Amino acid sequence: MRAYLQSLEQLTELLALQRQATDRQGRVGVDVRQRRIQQVIDLLVDEHEALAAAMDEDFGGRHPGFSLMNDVLGALASLKHARDHLEQWSADQPRPVFAPYDQLGGEAWVQYQPKGTVGIIGTWNAPLFTLLSPLAGVFAAGNRAVLKPSEVVPRTAEVLARAIDARFDPLELAVINGGIEVGQGFASQPFNHLVFTGSTSVGRDIMRRAAENLVPVTLELGGKSPVVIGRSADIADAARRLAIAKGTNSGQICISPDLVFVPVELRDAFIDAFTGTWAALYPSVAGNPDCVAVVNERHLARLDGCLAEVQEMGGQVVRCPDVAVAQNERRRPLSIVVNPPRLSRIMQEEIFGPALVLLTYSELPHVIDEINQGERPLALYYFGSDEQEQRRVLDYTLSGGVTINDALMHAAMEDAPFGGVGASGMGHYHGMEGFVEFSHARTVFKAPAYDPRGEWGMLAPYHPGFTDA
Ligand code: NAD
Repeated sequence: MRAYLQSLEQLTELLALQRQATDRQGRVGVDVRQRRIQQVIDLLVDEHEALAAAMDEDFGGRHPGFSLMNDVLGALASLKHARDHLEQWSADQPRPVFAPYDQLGGEAWVQYQPKGTVGIIGTWNAPLFTLLSPLAGVFAAGNRAVLKPSEVVPRTAEVLARAIDARFDPLELAVINGGIEVGQGFASQPFNHLVFTGSTSVGRDIMRRAAENLVPVTLELGGKSPVVIGRSADIADAARRLAIAKGTNSGQICISPDLVFVPVELRDAFIDAFTGTWAALYPSVAGNPDCVAVVNERHLARLDGCLAEVQEMGGQVVRCPDVAVAQNERRRPLSIVVNPPRLSRIMQEEIFGPALVLLTYSELPHVIDEINQGERPLALYYFGSDEQEQRRVLDYTLSGGVTINDALMHAAMEDAPFGGVGASGMGHYHGMEGFVEFSHARTVFKAPAYDPRGEWGMLAPYHPGFTDA
């Protein structure tokens, strides 16, 4: 069998073979784990140009320089961090022994064991990162893996699958390509753990399917990530950093700033600074290789539909830069939607594209209430120098992660967990928390030679006055 699987039947067959291999292998040494991770690193180093070219084609315009930074270097950072720390993470952890065995030489420890085979389903927006960054933790924990890339980026999926096929023993890493049907069949397999990155609605279906086999899941989902700009913020700096973050993949990332709460009196200053930075980054749209295209016609129609609806409802939309777009491509300027009606689609759905909602406010507590009325977001951003206000935002909201005075950056913290909460997901990858997520933490107790329980009156027959003591 090859590592590039051609059917769900082959996947079922492979999982049985991987299970046998796991049972025969025993402890998975540090050297084996590091070698597997190194093979993925080598794959990325060897194939980075082909992969970046494939992403450019799949998106209909995505600068290879951006793909190298976002997907290739992003995944490499996770892989290298895991490779260099897994020896420390995977060591048995001694735990305190309680009386009476503490006096007699009893021992206890936690052994982090591989779960077995982990399935990883990825998205189109960060097609390598959403597969290979979790794979770092999965391999660090000593597991085998099977990947399911997104069918929305077929060339990237094909280059990746062929590269894996050329380098990997399918007993260690395999890949299967396909659309929704393959995704559904994949999620119904008896993996030992399933990692899914994608939309909240599909995440629900994935969890239902995994539950049939009692497969534990890590769900990396989406949502509307809010930004709170405090009155103490440096408004020009905040707008500049947010424009840089929003421009990343043209807003097609899970933690992209989505709703921006701005003090009412700072509205125009924010729009001016934001559009100023945006226009400097992307002075033109048509044929501009720096401007990432909306991935396909379906997503473009979704986005255009949201903007048209707001305009029909009388909402204000600022386009930046307000220049012509080419009819034969999907690159679009940024649209800032100011105070749209609460019932409009752009207020209900994740934007996931080059648009931003700006909501003006007078009092911060109302902003916190509004955030808490929505689903728990994957990311939350706060700008300001007021420490008390910062504390208040941190203490009265719940989100997957937070970046203060910038955006996106918490997701790049390799040694800290990345994940959502509530509708934005469950579980983590990255760092020690990711390693633990993909391990079984087994407690081992080793009894001392001498058993004192009888002598200490802890066994039947109990002394009549035992309970009086
Ligand atoms: P999606 O849910 O449509 O698809 C994700 C993956 O699931 C793809 O591989 C797809 O083939 C597969 N799939 C689709 N329908 C399926 C089904 N019914 N059963 C089984 N598998 C199915 O998501 P997408 O459009 O590729 O990605 C965008 C979404 O992903 C956004 O909501 C975004 O916020 C989220 N996202 C989250 C993270 C994160 O780390 N939390 C990262 C990137 C993207």
